[in-house]
Amino acid sequence: MMSEVTETAVLLATLGEQALSRQPPDRAQALALLALGDDHVLDVVAAASRVRRKFFGRRVKLNLIVNMKSGLCPEDCFYCSQRLGSASDVLKYSWISPAAVADTTDQAVAGGAKRVCLVASGRGPSDRDITRVTDTIDVIKQRQPNVEVCVCLGLLKPNQAERLRDAGALAYNHNLNTSEENYAKICTTHTYDDRVDTVQRAQTAGLSPCSGAIFGMGESDSDVVDLALRLRELDPDSVPVNFLIPFEGTPLGSQWELTPQRCLRILALFRFTFPDVEVRLAGGREIHLRTLQPLALHIVNSIFLGDYLTSEGQAGSADLQMIADAGLVVEGQDEQTLPDARHDLVVLRRRGPGTELPVNA
Ligand code: SF4
Repeated sequence: MMSEVTETAVLLATLGEQALSRQPPDRAQALALLALGDDHVLDVVAAASRVRRKFFGRRVKLNLIVNMKSGLCPEDCFYCSQRLGSASDVLKYSWISPAAVADTTDQAVAGGAKRVCLVASGRGPSDRDITRVTDTIDVIKQRQPNVEVCVCLGLLKPNQAERLRDAGALAYNHNLNTSEENYAKICTTHTYDDRVDTVQRAQTAGLSPCSGAIFGMGESDSDVVDLALRLRELDPDSVPVNFLIPFEGTPLGSQWELTPQRCLRILALFRFTFPDVEVRLAGGREIHLRTLQPLALHIVNSIFLGDYLTSEGQAGSADLQMIADAGLVVEGQDEQTLPDARHDLVVLRRRGPGTELPVNA
């Protein structure tokens, strides 16, 4: 019989080898990873870090969220400070101007950001809202032609994704957030299938799908694994991993259930499941990982910089210092984020069915 230490070493070595050949964990392996004790956490980080190094080197991609419209949402997502009837102390404002978004983007790019995420509260955009966003993308692209624009506006209706793509958006973010089984416990005004549908609409239109999760909302290990494997089926190009920020005035306002070690195991599971995909450390990193944040940087290859959405993150300079201290480097504007095979897939999807890459693309 193998000792626990040997069993753990075999599991981590197997997960690492599989990931290096882009093979995800099976359900039993994923559950075993999440069940590992805290004593093994450095081994978990080391195993996931091998995968990160193989596909992303020492690069950390920086992203900035710009909240174009905030609060007053008719949906009831239990984790969200902008939800219907929220008593949270959150800024409420209607659409900010294209010039204001472009000014923020200029600052973000100067601070090292490669991607700007244009976010608006609400169930989903009207066609007029899409026009506001496409106008904004125009202004951004005139000033910063190389910045990646990701849009996050909620549930999409037909033809809206195509309009965003034609305006120059690269990606569309819509998170699945939790498992299908758990979904009704965190939202009653739309369904899991609605969310899946929007991710697929974006992908079909040739936008790079960005879809991820929020953990710390009462989910079991089984829910974590279900979500990771479901996301893998959807084949996103980037996967943001959030840890719940329990906003006062929301139904999950007193939900504190994560430890830094559990966050690291979850991030490792996502790295093994998405070895060559951008795994982004998103909301809640400061309050849940706390002083262990630098370990997470050896698993993920992307973070949100500074302030994001409705909460205040670490100041940008502290993040840059943390990256440097971890022996990592900020990804440059001219560097390709994704490994070649996945990068080519993004290009092909954008061009539409039946297209091929030129030999030297
Ligand atoms: S997550 Fe989005 S859809 Fe849900 S309540 Fe918040 S702003 Fe509205």
